[in-house]
This record gives sequence, C-alpha cells and structure tokens, in this order.
Amino acid sequence: MNRVRLLIFNAALGPLDYRVPDGMIVRPGSVVIAPLGPRQVLGIVWEPERLPAESVPDAKLRPLLGLVPVPPLKPELMRLIEWTADYYCAPLASVARMVIASGGALRGPSTLTEYRLSGGLPERLTPQRQAAMEALEGEQATIRELAGIAGVSEGVLRGLVNQGVLEPVEVDCDRPYPRANPAFAPPELNPQQAEVAKRLAGAVRARQFQPFLLDGVTGSGKTETYFEAVAAALQAGRQVLVLLPEIALTEAFLKRFEGRFGAPPVLWHSSLKSTERRRAWRAIASGPRDGGAQVVVGARSALFLPYADLGLIVVDEAHEVSFKQDDGVRYNARDVAVMRARFESLPVVLASATPALESLAMAEQGVYERLVLDARFGGAQMPAIATVDLTKEKPPRQHWLAPPLVEALKDRLAKGEQSLLFLNRRGYAPLTLCRHCGHRFKCPNCSAWLVEHRLSARLACHHCGLETATPDTCPECGEGDCLVACGPGVERIADEVAEILPDARIAVVTSDTINSPEKAAEFIAMATSGAIDVIVGTQLVTKGFHFPELTLVGVIDADLGLEGGDLRAAERTYQQVAQVAGRAGRGAKPGEVLIQTRHPQAPVIAALAAGDRDAFYAAETEARRDAGAPPFGRWAAIIVSSEDDAEAREAANRIGATRPMLADVQILGPAPAPMALLRGRYRYRLLLNARRSAKVQEVIRQWLGALSHPQGVRVSVDIDPYSF
Ligand code: ADP
Ligand code: ZN
Repeated sequence: MNRVRLLIFNAALGPLDYRVPDGMIVRPGSVVIAPLGPRQVLGIVWEPERLPAESVPDAKLRPLLGLVPVPPLKPELMRLIEWTADYYCAPLASVARMVIASGGALRGPSTLTEYRLSGGLPERLTPQRQAAMEALEGEQATIRELAGIAGVSEGVLRGLVNQGVLEPVEVDCDRPYPRANPAFAPPELNPQQAEVAKRLAGAVRARQFQPFLLDGVTGSGKTETYFEAVAAALQAGRQVLVLLPEIALTEAFLKRFEGRFGAPPVLWHSSLKSTERRRAWRAIASGPRDGGAQVVVGARSALFLPYADLGLIVVDEAHEVSFKQDDGVRYNARDVAVMRARFESLPVVLASATPALESLAMAEQGVYERLVLDARFGGAQMPAIATVDLTKEKPPRQHWLAPPLVEALKDRLAKGEQSLLFLNRRGYAPLTLCRHCGHRFKCPNCSAWLVEHRLSARLACHHCGLETATPDTCPECGEGDCLVACGPGVERIADEVAEILPDARIAVVTSDTINSPEKAAEFIAMATSGAIDVIVGTQLVTKGFHFPELTLVGVIDADLGLEGGDLRAAERTYQQVAQVAGRAGRGAKPGEVLIQTRHPQAPVIAALAAGDRDAFYAAETEARRDAGAPPFGRWAAIIVSSEDDAEAREAANRIGATRPMLADVQILGPAPAPMALLRGRYRYRLLLNARRSAKVQEVIRQWLGALSHPQGVRVSVDIDPYSF
C-alpha cells in the first residue's frame, strides 16, 4: 500500500493522506492533483513524520488523480516553508501557495492564447465597445486580463473575438530567455569596490551560507559591486535572485543590468500577465541552463519561488518597508531571504546606505559580515546638508516653501540645474472640508480622511482605494463652491513651485503618476535628459534614482514622519531623508540639501544635518534598548477584526481575558488598532513585548489555539511588526 501525505493549498484544510495509484511515482516535494469531495485540488507531497495528520485507514484512502509535471520542490525549500509558517504563525498552506504562485503556472499546456486588436471594426460600434477598444490599444493579454484592463465583462470581449475585432495570438510559455554573459561589460572598479567585489564573488564560489551587510553610502557603487557577485554566480552556472523594494525601480535596474550582462534578467512581480508569470515560473524551476532563468529580479514574492539551483540572493535597499508584507502571510522578505540562504547554503547580500538597526546589530555581533563602501564613486562629494527652521523662516500663508528653499530653487533654475522636493503625501491636500458647515470628507470604510487629487479631480482613500469624483457641492449642507484644502500634498507643492517659478518644467512623481514600468521609463528618460527642472515626489523619489544634473534636494516637512511616536518613526525619518538627500550631487556638480523642520534640535534631524550617521544610530540604539524594542527585545501584534464593531471588540476582549501570565512576555491591550476601521473592518489589537529569548510564537499558538470565534471574526498575528 503506497500512501502519501499531502499539504493541500487551502489554509482551511489540514494535511490529508491519499493512495498513490500504480504506475505513479511521487516523492516528497512532488506537486500532485488530488480529489477532495467532488473537486480537484493541488497539493505537495510532504514527509509524513513532519506533518501530523488524522490517521485514516488504508481502505478509505482515495487515489491521487495526477502528477503535475514540474520538478519536485527541494527539501531545502520545504524546510523554508515550514520555518516561515512556524516563525510568522501562518498556515503552511498559505506559505506553500506563494511557492506555487497561484498554481496557474503549473497546470495546463505550455502555450496560452492571448488576444489583441486586429484593426477590424465591430458590426455595431456601441459606446461601450468603442471605450473598450480604446482601452485595449497596444495591449495583448488573456481575455480575463483584457476585461480587467478595459473594465468590461469577459462576455463583451468574447463578442469582439467572434467578430474578429480581437485576434488570438498563441504564446509559447516555454520560449527561452536570452543568455546573460558575465563577461559582457565589466566595469573598472575602484580599489575599495574591487575589495568588496572580490569578497562577495569568493563567497559565491564557496557555496556556503554567508550573510553580508553591504553598507555603502548613496552613490558608492553598491549595485556595480554586487554585480560582480552576480557575475561569479553566472560563471558557476547558478541562479541569482535580486529583490528590489519597488516595481517602479526595476525599469532603471533592468537597463543597467542589460548594460552589464548583455541581456535583461527575468522579471517577477505580482502584476505580471499570466503568460509572463507562467513563463518565468517554469524557467525558474527548470534552472539556469538552456534558456531557463539565470537572474531573477523581483518584488518580495520572488523570494518563495522554486529556484532549481540558486547561488546568490541580493536584497537591494534592504532597509525598505516594502519588504514587509502586511496581509496574508505577514513576513519580512529581508529576514526570510537570510533564512533561505541558510537553508540552501548560499551567500546573501543586504545592500543599503541606511541599514535597519537590526541589520547593523547583526553585523556588530559578527553574524553578518559588514562590507563598507564609504565614498561616492568617481570623486563625487556627499551633499552639504542644512536645516531650515520653520519657526523662524516662515513660508507665506497657505504656502509651504520657506524663503531659503525658494531662493535655492530660483538659483538652480537660473543655472539650468535640477531640483527635487520631497513630501511623503500623495494628492493635493490630506484633508478637505466645507467652508460653510465644516464637514470633513471622511472614508466610510476606514479611519482616514479622503485625500483630494486635483490632477484627477477625485477624492480618494489611500487605505482602501475608494474614489469618488470631487463634488461641486457639500454633501452635508448642500452649499456650492465650498471645498477648502487643508495642508499640502505633492500636487499642491507643485502648484506652489509653478507660482514661484512660472517657467520651470515640473514633474509630480508618485504612485499615481508613475503607475507602470512604461511611465517609470518615460520619467527616468526625461529627468536624465534635462527635460525636467523640478521633481516633486513622495517616497518613490527617495530610492535608487541617479540624475547627474540634480543638485538641490528640499525636504518639505521632515517632522511629518515623527508624529505619532511610532516604534520606527525616527529610523524611518532618518532613512527617508538620508536617501532623498542621496539623490543630490551624484554627478560632477556638488549637491545641497535643505531640510525644513520645526524641530532642528531633535536628535534625528540634528544627526541628519551634521551628516553624523553614527550619532543617529547611537541615540536610536539607546531608545530601543529602553523600550525593549528590536534588536533588544521583540514585539508581536495580534489583530482582531470584524465588519461588526461589537463582535470585534468582544472577540478581542475574550482573547485578552485568557492571556497567559509570563515573566518574559508582557501583553498589552486590547485597544483599538491605529487604523481602527480599515476596509470596512473594525480592528482591535493586542501587543506582545518579549525578551529576545522568549518563545513568542509558541505562546501565541497555545493561547490562540484554545479559542474559537464567530465566523465574521478574523484573528491575525504579526510577528516583528514594522510599525505600531
Ligand atoms: P549605489 O547603489 O551605492 O547608490 P550605484 O551602484 O548606483 O551606487 O553607483 C552610482 C553611480 O556610479 C552609477 O551611475 C554607477 O553606474 C556609477 N558607478 C559606480 N561604480 C562605478 C564603476 N566602478 N565604474 C563606472 N561607474 C560606476
Ligand atoms: Zn478607505
């Protein structure tokens, strides 16, 4: 009797046993199709001793239906799945799903049919059809994806297929990727870079677990340097994963990569088309040879893919918030990357100019090897940084640029140099109210104001995505022409710049304006060619960009992130301002940074102005030690939510009432979560503050495992929450 245990891709189901039919050969890691009631489900064959399940007598076992023709998952990856589920208190199945990346990559043929406009016209050109056809100009994708793009039903598009307006294109998802050549265009490294590159490449060849903290100032050539480690992996015929924090950055990265290696890498992120996703997944699983995937560049979800032969992981801008996933499996890709490297015995590089305190602490303890690049490449100087005290240098009413910043902007425009203004707020104004009745526009689904977006004439919630057209009259009192914008967003700053510098060419750069790789490429090309004088942007502009003519950076409100007293508020402010400052003076001309603040004496602002990173980290270390925060202690959160406020509160109270009494874990709450209403769900939170050595996960599992809740209640656990 050949019996196997399956991890089923459904978090609500436990592991189940099946019979392997004669002639089918499976082993741990095999992906199989199994019957479940009347349905078919995907599962992974798991070692039964590692996955306890209810015992079912042999006679009752149902046979597996089929074996999915992909390489079985490697034991190292199965251990990573177990570790991730265990550490983050998440269902194994949810983690496993990230490996299979929607399953669509697996089943079915290697070709898929996509559709595109044929150039023909429908018999009857209804307004709906006309709108759909306009939206689909230049697109090619599956019917379902096209329906999403055009905002119409699949039925409408099938009608267009039948009339020949949309024509089918067969896409081969197994077509090979172009080969990257490690010797295509190697740079000449300066001595410090060469030293670091040699160490990294040596570690790739050694094939051992080795975490590195590549700690280099902005513009020091971190990318250029770790490319040499990539080259070493390519030479050894192994795969590389480079994690980037933001899709908007990948466009510039891809160009650079192609310049160095003669071919673009394989791209992975959550909005890939299904054909691209399937092609990439199969190429990653099939390995680096014969047109498979050699180097994969992706968002955090690329971390869990089943690489056939991984030789190196790089986490670029490793300090970035976006590596922390905050729904589903709440994991930190930076930390899981290190674990994956450990399970698979390979080097992992965390690159940053502003490392997280946790990463620096690991380097200090000797767990990570710290590699330093302390000078900008090619003799470029670090920018001069000064604060502008807003309590003394006041902008005019309803304006946000203080006189010194205005003067600096004028000066740069006169010289034909570029400026960048940073404010981490999308839209025109964070709060809109009615001048007659004082009504404030609030999101019905979230504890948040609606943000006016003047460019698109809409009010939007930045938490749930709700959008409405900006009304002409107040919904409360009915008066017209009544809206007052309170406070600035980037669009309003751009208006102010236009008022001060009528001739300046201004670009607003946010996730609203740069929402596709094409837009990102367009922006980068314009900014590089000197077609933009002033860039006004959110955190998007703090990262990665390299514009040689950019010589002035203005931080509109350095205090913004410090409000609220969040655990990482100071560190995040330091990182954002230091990163955006790092965009200035990267070329031949020196850079200047002006930081507008009401608290020039605050330790983080003073450290920024003095360019004294060590002083900041020293102060932050003390603050964290006092708070029992990472790296000294650990925090975890339990979030209880429901569409019904009372139900959520009661469930949270029930959890609170059964809290364990422990010496090394302090439990706070429940209290309303910072976003007490989010996407229509009321949220309460309990916080756990534990000693480093405490087994928080075990405590939480035992505690929560003993409770059950009404259907509508969701309880989620956030280990090492990013902020609270
Ligand atoms: P970082 O990642 O540390 O911010 P980059 O790798 O982006 O730094 O390098 C900054 C700029 O300097 C880039 O334009 C890069 O191409 C250039 N650069 C760095 N090192 C070299 C080198 N050895 N040879 C040529 N150009 C270099
Ligand atoms: Zn909302």
